[in-house]
Amino acid sequence: MGTGSIEDTRQPDHVQAQINGLHLDGGSSEIIFLGTGSSSGLPSVRCALSPGGGCPCCKEAMSNPDSKNRRGNPSLLIRYRGGKRDNPGDVDGGSGEAKNILIDAGKTFKESVLRWFPKFGIRTVDAIVLTHEHADAILGLDDFRELQTWDLEWRGKALPPPTPVFLSDATYKTLCSIFPYLTKKVDTSKGEFQRMVSQLDFNCVPPLKTFNAMGLEIRTLPVEHGPDCICYGFDFGVRDRVVYLSDFTSISEEVYEVIEEREVSILVLDSLRPDKDSLTHIGLPTAVEIAKRVKPKKTFLVGLSDNFGDHDEFNRGLRDKYGPQGIDIQLAHDGLRIPLEL
Ligand SMILES: [Zn+2]
Ligand SMILES: [Zn+2]
Repeated sequence: MGTGSIEDTRQPDHVQAQINGLHLDGGSSEIIFLGTGSSSGLPSVRCALSPGGGCPCCKEAMSNPDSKNRRGNPSLLIRYRGGKRDNPGDVDGGSGEAKNILIDAGKTFKESVLRWFPKFGIRTVDAIVLTHEHADAILGLDDFRELQTWDLEWRGKALPPPTPVFLSDATYKTLCSIFPYLTKKVDTSKGEFQRMVSQLDFNCVPPLKTFNAMGLEIRTLPVEHGPDCICYGFDFGVRDRVVYLSDFTSISEEVYEVIEEREVSILVLDSLRPDKDSLTHIGLPTAVEIAKRVKPKKTFLVGLSDNFGDHDEFNRGLRDKYGPQGIDIQLAHDGLRIPLEL
């Protein structure tokens, strides 16, 4: 691990320069990776507390707050300015105001918001999309109230408008047992007490169906995430198309058919380990095979463990190995921002 990686944290310019063929000049929308680590996040507690301070990757992440080796739970923010060019009346009346659509709010949600929202001038989230019911995707929902506008003198008066949440039936069912106070509608006319909690409006979406989040059409892609869980991936964007698959062990032929309907600009893939698959996540070799089959313009990996070592060093190795084969595959990092025409 070289110190160059430490100096190199002020992306996105040098990263964007590598992204060819996307609508970088005219990209009116963008995606921002808020989290790219495994469910434990990096640096890992196990590493940090081990004798000697753990692996070089976690050590560097511990000592450098701006490190690309610091990774929160997988999460993506879509800043959508739909139709700005072609139909100025769409979505935002042509004002250029982005609609912010958040994929997943996990255990590190608060940390990710504090780290990236001020940097990118983001203050609100307009809709939430959930991949699945595990802690690294949902446990930040409690903190979501901090992004909602409450009257400072709030005493059970007007509530903030609920934020739409799009999710599977299975995820909703789990949320009902984990967060009864977020899922149950309070009826104050019956004397029920209204707490100051996140105001959310849950919308269950079936597999392989398209829903509309703030004007952006998003299709659900059900993928197996271990034998006991179906996780949603998401497919969105018209001119630049993004396929986001953050947690999975296998993709069915039915889902491949949908993915292969037309060219993918950005493919985001789970990849817990650099050497092999695990019981609940694919690893790099499988991710490479999927990238070879789907042939996106660019593949980004998320859900990364410290086994990858230093971010920049690993990415150099990926470029050297797969670049000559025409495969553009890289680790994503927290705070990575990519302008797109969605
Ligand atoms: Zn480590
Ligand atoms: Zn999971």
